[in-house]
Amino acid sequence: MGFKETGVITREELEERGLLPSIERLEKGPIAIAECPEGIPCNICVNVCPFNAVLMDKIYDLPRIDPDKCIGCGVCVPQCPGLAMFIVDLSKPDRALITLPYEFPPEPRKGMRVKLLDRAGNVVGEGSIVKVWQYDKTWAVTVETPRDKWFEVRAIWIPEK
Ligand code: SF4
Ligand code: SF4
Repeated sequence: MGFKETGVITREELEERGLLPSIERLEKGPIAIAECPEGIPCNICVNVCPFNAVLMDKIYDLPRIDPDKCIGCGVCVPQCPGLAMFIVDLSKPDRALITLPYEFPPEPRKGMRVKLLDRAGNVVGEGSIVKVWQYDKTWAVTVETPRDKWFEVRAIWIPEK
């Protein structure tokens, strides 16, 4: 079953659509992953990218990330209205860095320990926030995660103390 039945996109679906960077590219440094598989009429990521790294001919095309132009700056993450942009960095041998959008209280802060969630909201581990910034009402949060969870983790939960 795929995202049309479950609401959760699979690795195969991202690969089939050319939306997943190669492991070789991920290991070189941060790069955006646009988990946006439906060809909706939106091109905000194209317009906000300072490096012209999101490619789209027509507004209902899928957003393609140019692996040579994207530097993983994260500008697109809090500006995507579908909360579908993520940055993954596998350049460190012992961990993964994932930047994801976040819109819930409490306010995320650097150094916090958080629960790591998969696309379905299941807890899959724990990680630490290493960087936070905000655009409008959306946070972009970079979390350090176990390296083998780089594809699974796409959200965080900050437990109330
Ligand atoms: S991470 Fe930065 S360079 Fe890459 S697509 Fe997003 S805005 Fe462009
Ligand atoms: S801004 Fe987000 S929702 Fe719009 S095309 Fe880009 S990835 Fe898809």
